[in-house]
Amino acid sequence: MISACKNVKKRKGGFVPVKAALNLVPATPLTSDLLIVGGGVLGLWAAKYAVDAGLKVTLIDKTRCGSGGSRGLLGALAPHLPNAMNDKKRFQLHALDELPGLVAQLEEQSGLSAHYGQTGRLMPIRVPGFQKRVDRCIKEAANCWDLGTRCYTFEQVEVSSYEGWVNPELAPMGLAFDSLSARIVPRSFMQVLFASVMDRIEIIEDCELFSFDQQKHRAVMRDGRVILADKIVLAAGYETYDLLRPLACADLGHGVKGHSSLFELDGVADMPSLYDNGVYIVPHGDGTVAVGSSSQNEWSDEHAVREGHCLPYIIKAKELCPALHKATFLSHWAGVRPRSYAKDPIVGALDERGSVHVLTGGFKISFGIAHRLAQALVERLSGASNPVALPASYEVAYHLAEAEKDNRGDKII
Ligand SMILES: Cc1cc2nc3c(=O)[nH]c(=O)nc-3n(C[C@H](O)[C@H](O)[C@H](O)COP(=O)(O)OP(=O)(O)OC[C@H]3O[C@@H](n4cnc5c(N)ncnc54)[C@H](O)[C@@H]3O)c2cc1C
Repeated sequence: MISACKNVKKRKGGFVPVKAALNLVPATPLTSDLLIVGGGVLGLWAAKYAVDAGLKVTLIDKTRCGSGGSRGLLGALAPHLPNAMNDKKRFQLHALDELPGLVAQLEEQSGLSAHYGQTGRLMPIRVPGFQKRVDRCIKEAANCWDLGTRCYTFEQVEVSSYEGWVNPELAPMGLAFDSLSARIVPRSFMQVLFASVMDRIEIIEDCELFSFDQQKHRAVMRDGRVILADKIVLAAGYETYDLLRPLACADLGHGVKGHSSLFELDGVADMPSLYDNGVYIVPHGDGTVAVGSSSQNEWSDEHAVREGHCLPYIIKAKELCPALHKATFLSHWAGVRPRSYAKDPIVGALDERGSVHVLTGGFKISFGIAHRLAQALVERLSGASNPVALPASYEVAYHLAEAEKDNRGDKII
């Protein structure tokens, strides 16, 4: 388990810095180079890169940092399949490849553990169509996943090698295994990330952005507080789309609620994750195993747990993974992930002046790419000479063009 960090008080729903706990919010407007709205995985990575670049950073969260979609249980760091490579797949490959080094650095600084492990992923092969795709990936991975320094593999393995972990009846043609997939404990990782910035930036919790005046660089909070900032980054998870609507004059995405469940099970921490037909089974380095995740487009209460959304996943998971029958149930969790209508994350400046920036929408793969998205954004806004390149479909302009095509401008408020 994680060791205690002296400056972070752990509490239900997130972490609270000592300053916010004492409610020491300044009476005169705070001024910053950069105001980051949202203390989820994307906002905290952006804060880390920005403060490393020498910017004076303020980060606000309407509740607690790490209490939104990033408070999930699953923590699968899963790549796209290694065939028909494109910019998005390459971006994710580089992100997943560099993540263990970055996590190790942050862990060393904080003395906390994120329980990261590159333990791979298994997928049962049941139908000839998937077998064909596996064959293609086996051939292409040797090129697609060869980074020179490291080469990740995609191979077909015998079910008998995973006795007790995979039900052989559900993998009649064998298993596909990739060595790039990894896993992390999201809540532990959020603590590690929070610890990396908490003493270096201003963090104000229970502080909800209401509006931002681009001319005056003036952010007004729902309770009337004012923060003056040269630039603002909207990293408010699915709520970014609401903040963007009046600024971008378009409806760019929505929140998709999901449920997952957590179990305790000893002795499986080094097993690969299992994925089949929408069900993920992710063994963690802290002796837990997570199962998920459902998707609901219609929802009213962000965190309300509906057992009916968890049970079908648990039943399927136990069929596929006999070891889970011995596991002890710990908890369910529900939260909302950001999903843009054009499917991809949205990253970059919204206006020509470069005062409003967007950083949202990794949907189910955010934890594996959040650092690289944040790095690309911060390098651009701080004028770095050779910023990390983004896939074209992540750019704000692409999302605005897609919205126009789909007439989503109609939904402007
Ligand atoms: C059930 C489920 C399972 C998932 N499984 C995985 C997985 O296995 N692997 C993976 O990579 N991803 C997974 N995801 C997706 C991932 O968790 C999310 O995409 C990611 O956490 C989103 O991070 P974020 O920083 O954009 O948003 P969030 O973590 O939601 O953070 C946004 C923050 O902004 C704050 N905020 C909102 N509005 C305002 C405002 N006006 N003013 C100030 N603050 C504001 C919120 O309080 C919140 O803390 C899963 C998600 C769910 C729901």
